[in-house]
Amino acid sequence: MAEPQPVFRFAPSPNGYLHLGHAASALLNASLAKRLGGRLLLRIEDIDIGRSRPEFEAAIVEDLAWLGLRFDEPARRQSEHMAEYAAALQELGRRGLTYPCFCTRGEIAARVAEAEAPGRSWPRDPDGAPMGVCPCAGLSLADRQGRIRAGEPHATRLAMAAALEAAGDAPLGWTEWDPASDGGRHVEADPARWGDVVIGRKDVPASYHLAVTHDDALQGVTHVVRGADLREATHIHVLLQRLRGLPTPVYHHHGLVLDADGRKLSKSIRSTALRSLRAEGVTPGEIRRRLGALIA
Ligand code: GLU
Repeated sequence: MAEPQPVFRFAPSPNGYLHLGHAASALLNASLAKRLGGRLLLRIEDIDIGRSRPEFEAAIVEDLAWLGLRFDEPARRQSEHMAEYAAALQELGRRGLTYPCFCTRGEIAARVAEAEAPGRSWPRDPDGAPMGVCPCAGLSLADRQGRIRAGEPHATRLAMAAALEAAGDAPLGWTEWDPASDGGRHVEADPARWGDVVIGRKDVPASYHLAVTHDDALQGVTHVVRGADLREATHIHVLLQRLRGLPTPVYHHHGLVLDADGRKLSKSIRSTALRSLRAEGVTPGEIRRRLGALIA
């Protein structure tokens, strides 16, 4: 049987302008898709309704076209698929793998401050969120239902212990693909480092982890090529894939473009935004040369 055609994707969030780091990711995806005879998709990850803006989306599309990138299908916009994510959340909930969390940011911050007062530091997940400060897992079903019926805002957390049990004993992990050699290395997943991670936000029935894994599967993505800053998230992604019966693509987490001080680029720093560089007269060819080995 013929190998299925590889599918790559570039999945920016429209909460700022694309910078050199995004250009590196998009160009690397494009060059690998070309090398493997694959397709390249664009996905707009705009579930963060507070920070996503249509003008940033329009700028992303324009900047990618300026770089010379073409995508194989119209972009998938996550905000148009909330019902799918809600259904996925409900299904995990029916299986007892989630619970509603009514904590406010202020309550969590106060509990952590209290616990850290004696000079201890409280454990955090890879995103820096404090772990194990939410007492909501212990609420009775009647309490949960009553508070939800009363309209109290709540996030949805993955009940990690139950999720790991449901995941079963088969090894859990992913292939970290090395495009240079076309070899792969197995990485064992350790999702517990995330604790009872939020998989549904208070404002929308999804989180990055839920939506990204749902869409990668739905769009038939076979190769996820993204920055090394998202590597930790893969530990959660493979667990969600296992729980939901979704395929696990291969992953390549590429090196990041750093600023002169060795820090990761940020959307709030305008100097490396593609628009600023373009306004200064930098050409797409010069961007490619500047990114050099990162996109080869
Ligand atoms: N939307 C995410 C971001 O812009 C990237 C998601 C991914 O590549 O998995 O950081």
